[in-house]
Amino acid sequence: MRIVIQPGIPGLAPRHGRWLQALACAVLAWAWYRAEPPAARAPEHTGAAGQALTVAADGQASRAAPEGNATPHAAAPVAYSTTTVTVGRNDTLERIFRRLELDLADLASMRALPTLRAQLDRLYPDEVLTLQHRDGALLGLERRLAPGETLKVRREPDGFASELLEIPLQTEVRRAEAVIDSSLFEAAGKAGMKDQTTLALAELFGWDIDFVLDIRPGDSFVVAYEQRFEDGEYVQDGPILAAKFVNQGHVYRAVRYVGPDGNASYFTPEGTSLRKAFLRAPVAFTRVSSRFNPSRHHPVLNLIRAHKGVDYAAPTGTPVRAAGDGRVRLAGRKGGYGNVVELEHARGIATVYGHLDRFARGLRAGQRVAQGQLIGYVGMTGLATGPHLHYEYRVHGVPRNPQTIRLVDATPIGDALRADFVAKTSGLIASLDRAGSPALAAR
Ligand SMILES: [Zn+2]
Repeated sequence: MRIVIQPGIPGLAPRHGRWLQALACAVLAWAWYRAEPPAARAPEHTGAAGQALTVAADGQASRAAPEGNATPHAAAPVAYSTTTVTVGRNDTLERIFRRLELDLADLASMRALPTLRAQLDRLYPDEVLTLQHRDGALLGLERRLAPGETLKVRREPDGFASELLEIPLQTEVRRAEAVIDSSLFEAAGKAGMKDQTTLALAELFGWDIDFVLDIRPGDSFVVAYEQRFEDGEYVQDGPILAAKFVNQGHVYRAVRYVGPDGNASYFTPEGTSLRKAFLRAPVAFTRVSSRFNPSRHHPVLNLIRAHKGVDYAAPTGTPVRAAGDGRVRLAGRKGGYGNVVELEHARGIATVYGHLDRFARGLRAGQRVAQGQLIGYVGMTGLATGPHLHYEYRVHGVPRNPQTIRLVDATPIGDALRADFVAKTSGLIASLDRAGSPALAAR
């Protein structure tokens, strides 16, 4: 167990080297002894409440059973109560304090510490808080902030102090594989995977595979992911470390790489980003003639109408290119758009190319296009005063400004990181192809 001392106990921040840390711990042990309610030092008077916490000079803390390890400093037989509260819907600490008839001034002084305030600000239904109190005065509070991380607040002579107790979670790597009969979720469920990780798997390959339209019976996957345990009890799934997906005979592989900056991203074994960038503009344009504008005066209709895209003025016949890999949803005539191409991309992104003079030869709905592929030529069909491309970028049907949207960072592994990338990922990648079920090994 590691104790992280938080600001609030002046001078005890563990950044002064080992001897200072040992000194700090000794001081902490003394402070703890002084601050601990008398009952904790005399557990025979407290029932379940008194649990002595010993802090050793090396920074390790260990809990001792009240009966087994009572300190010799038995004091006045003043009991305190420990109340375990299960947080209800819309519960706040203030409501809990009122319910338990605790002093609201104690709550105010805890909230006066900025770190503590943030850590106590929001409660979640069904989480469990432990409060120690005596005669309406709060003596201590415990809250599990996350798996393996508990906040401990206690009353000190000059106010409240807090610390984070961290118990590192144990991590195991689980490997799951399945052949899909009907749906990805069904197959993953049979392989013992939680929906959260199945979703992460679909997300991972979402730039390459359309999980609604592309999945076929006989598709298969292998995935290696982390599982986290606290004291041997399963807590949650961690990230996917590596995965292979076979879709209609095409093999996709992904591996997680944590760079020197600590950021994790997914790459192919060759070091290409799994994410795909979009072109900022689909034409080599001369100028933007009309910007994205939610309340624009329409030049032809002579009324206020939102401009849901960007107009790129360019001579008739200028090539228009697909902004990203995708599928043609429409290549035809549509109202004011004139000749229009609509492309569907991964992750609910769609792009629209209006007023085209004509389409690229053979372009049809349902067809796949690659980023940069010619899809048509600039024109002035539909409601247009001059030749230009009207370009829209929609996310789940909502038009976004193509000039300002954050484009995906799809930078591949550079030469400087190549050796580190190979060293960290080659074992994981090889594990994907290790013999599993015969059906998968045969692929
Ligand atoms: Zn326009």
